[in-house]
Amino acid sequence: MEQLRIPGPTPCPDEVLQAMTKQMINHRGPEFGQIVSDATDNLKQLFQTKNDLFLLTGSGTGGLEAAVVNTLSPGDKVLSVSIGVFGERFATIARQFGAEVIPLGFEWGKAADVDSIRRALEAEPGIKAVLVTHNETSTGVTNDLAQISSTVKRFSKLLLVDAISSLSSIDLPVDEWHCDVVVTGSQKGWMVPPGLAMVSVSEEAWRAHAGARMPRFYWDFSKAKSYLEKRQTPWTPGMTAIFALSVSLKMMLKEGLASIFARHARVAQLARDSMKSLGLPLFADERYASNTVTAVAGAGGLDTKKMLKIMREEHRIVLGGGQQSLDGKIFRIGHMGWVKESDIELVISALKVVLPQAGFGG
Ligand SMILES: *Cc1c(COP(=O)(O)O)cnc(C)c1O
Repeated sequence: MEQLRIPGPTPCPDEVLQAMTKQMINHRGPEFGQIVSDATDNLKQLFQTKNDLFLLTGSGTGGLEAAVVNTLSPGDKVLSVSIGVFGERFATIARQFGAEVIPLGFEWGKAADVDSIRRALEAEPGIKAVLVTHNETSTGVTNDLAQISSTVKRFSKLLLVDAISSLSSIDLPVDEWHCDVVVTGSQKGWMVPPGLAMVSVSEEAWRAHAGARMPRFYWDFSKAKSYLEKRQTPWTPGMTAIFALSVSLKMMLKEGLASIFARHARVAQLARDSMKSLGLPLFADERYASNTVTAVAGAGGLDTKKMLKIMREEHRIVLGGGQQSLDGKIFRIGHMGWVKESDIELVISALKVVLPQAGFGG
């Protein structure tokens, strides 16, 4: 079998795959109602939240769009804190729906600087919301969301968080950190195929929702809430992915949040240490290096694209390339969800063989 080590979609355990062979049932009947209701309760534990939480059918980007259109109106000023490809995407969505986006970008590979966020909020008192990426998958950087949140909340702004590649794998206590809308996606750390976005909505986000005038139909939080009260979703959901999720959530609760975070930290440390010992520089500022994806800079004559090809064709290991301006400059090792040290060890032993074949050190 292929070793899929990209930062999503990620491999699924057998029990999760098995759950997807279940026959269809009535999506408005009692059996599915129980599944939706249990999955929502279990998700709340993993989000560490008492806020409302919705299972939306769509990919993570749909969840980001839902966060924007449910809380904002055209013309609203929004501070976009961006450290990479996905930060830019979040800003683009807000702009597309008519928000006045104030960009605050940081060099790719670095984390967002909290002082700059404070200065931007001081400079423009009319800002309504702050968009931030918790874990920037394109650069392998995890922002200090606790600090960012405490700054944003000192100014009483709405905080919309892309936690698509962190929640479930990296600690994110949603309530303790006062995050208003938090978005994640099934194919990242949740050990489930693509197809679901999971979104939490705070009281403050609901207050914003009451006056939010951006156009929306499919992603309407009010509809999601009224249907969830009947243990349903407004539209036919991706039932097969929900069957899978309900199994993976049980596995995750059994392992426990602290153990899951510790496992990701160990695996990520192993990935970083081994890349350095192979002589490859990390792309991300190591103080903020992500525990779900390691971005490695091409160096020493390495042709990263050739390396990825040989890894895939001769070792059946699939690593991620760089996105947009990082194409051909970095490669990424995904280690979120169903991953253990031995998975990374396989990658390392193959890299030892492949790196010289792809120009490294030559
Ligand atoms: C994967 C990812 C997305 C996009 O999610 P899709 O499910 O591909 O729509 C957005 N933000 C981050 C941080 C991601 O890792």
